[in-house]
Amino acid sequence: MALTNEQYDIIRKEYDLRLLAAADKARARAEEAARIPGYSALEERASALIRSFAQGLAQGAGAVSCREELQRLRQEKEQLLQGAGYPADYLEDVYECPLCRDTGYVDGHKCTCFRKREIDLLYADSHLGFLTDRIRFSSLREDVYLKGGTESDVQHFIKARDASLSFVENFPACRNLLFTGSVGTGKTALSVCIAGELIDRGFRVIYFSAVSLFERLSAERFGSREEQEEQRLSSDLYSCDLLVIDDLGTELTNSFVAEQLFALLNERSIRQNRTVISTNLDLEQLFTLYAERIFSRITSEFDIFRLTGPDIRRLTAG
Ligand SMILES: [Zn+2]
Repeated sequence: MALTNEQYDIIRKEYDLRLLAAADKARARAEEAARIPGYSALEERASALIRSFAQGLAQGAGAVSCREELQRLRQEKEQLLQGAGYPADYLEDVYECPLCRDTGYVDGHKCTCFRKREIDLLYADSHLGFLTDRIRFSSLREDVYLKGGTESDVQHFIKARDASLSFVENFPACRNLLFTGSVGTGKTALSVCIAGELIDRGFRVIYFSAVSLFERLSAERFGSREEQEEQRLSSDLYSCDLLVIDDLGTELTNSFVAEQLFALLNERSIRQNRTVISTNLDLEQLFTLYAERIFSRITSEFDIFRLTGPDIRRLTAG
């Protein structure tokens, strides 16, 4: 799992709060139970039993096991609770997650609730919004291409989709991906599917359209925000397991953008973190628009897939 320390702290604090809430609930319920006639007497007998057992142990005497007696008292308490209209486990059922009793761990391993929380947090920090709700590998239909495109369009799509699936399977031991092609040929869909699938596997993914990525970076560089925050965004962009830059080339390209893009690609390459880029530009346009060093980085470190065909968004809408 690839959460940052900051994200871990958030989850740990949440579990601390859950435990406090559970303790409050338990206290309130114990007070309610104490009002049932006979209940407190049973509690006192159980405490006395445990005390004398502990004393026996401390004095080295052969302590007589009190387990059976405690079990019997417990059953009596449950009967009293039920008689008063409460469920038998009323005093114990105070946790949001009974599996880990809100500690987040079961037998030294993260509980399923902890893992789910990690993934929720990874989604929340990914900038993907609701994109992954609708676009998953299982819903990517190649017959859409059969309907509107040529056989070769379909082949291009299948090749890119298979490469995306194998990217996910082998992640992070895989090469970067670049999808090129005109609007609506499925580049964004493939990028989103990859992102969602990897988050579900616990990887830290950041997804940005090129326009908003460079706007953010530019606002933080030249705007009035704290320098610290800029460093945080940059460091997240450098360190996340997968960075997806969607629609590269639609941003207003200038020397700042080219410099930032090179820094991103370079730093991620040094850290061996993977990047997926989608673009409407062909290789020649990439070369013209960005510096030569960006072009050679992309052509040497990315597997490039060209998607072709009609705009599937138009086809599926109609
Ligand atoms: Zn749990």
